[in-house]
Amino acid sequence: MNYVLAAPAIPSLPIIGSDRRFPIRRVFCIGRNYAEHAREMGATVDKAAPMFFCKPADAVVSDGADVPYPTATADLHHEVEMVVALGAGGHDLDPAAAAALVWGYGVGLDLTRRDLQAQAKAKGHPWDVAKAFDHSAPVSALRPAAQAHVGADTVLRLHVNGKLRQQAGLGDMIHDVPHIIAALSRLFELKPGDLIFTGTPAGVAALQRGDRFHAELAGVAELAGQIV
Ligand code: MN
Repeated sequence: MNYVLAAPAIPSLPIIGSDRRFPIRRVFCIGRNYAEHAREMGATVDKAAPMFFCKPADAVVSDGADVPYPTATADLHHEVEMVVALGAGGHDLDPAAAAALVWGYGVGLDLTRRDLQAQAKAKGHPWDVAKAFDHSAPVSALRPAAQAHVGADTVLRLHVNGKLRQQAGLGDMIHDVPHIIAALSRLFELKPGDLIFTGTPAGVAALQRGDRFHAELAGVAELAGQIV
């Protein structure tokens, strides 16, 4: 193609047990998917209407790279989440068909400028500047679904500077993975390469420059990094 500018690189993630990489197309996120977290945010949960937002694909930080503390905030929060990677696409799917799109699993941080999010909520503004900023989505290497046991008993956990900040079993999710993907597929035509952040449990809190984080989806994937 004869572009007028150098075409941007395709963001990608490493794959556990392989030297090939997963190309990222889009990043979808579900909000308020754990009741205890919704409570700590003072939000109510409408189980019939899951709430979604997006991040740009190039907001993903891969390979354990340092995460720069963002501009324009004094309250950067961590939200540890299971990340689901889609290997196939589709639209208007039922949960069984939606489950078949899953290529693999990882763990990530949905980093949030909590102060800007609170302002956006108060003013009825969109969440983009609170959620979709540069480097707002550190993600681990992916574990192919065929090699992963992921179930209601799988534990999602985050340590910061060696102290436990967040921990929950996936069974605490309000919407499970097939229902999240099915709901998204009624709003977007899903495509191979799409990532989905599946929501965070209670315990979100501030990160500072110099903090070291260690996120894990126990037995499946882990992510270590630092805020700089
Ligand atoms: Mn989140």
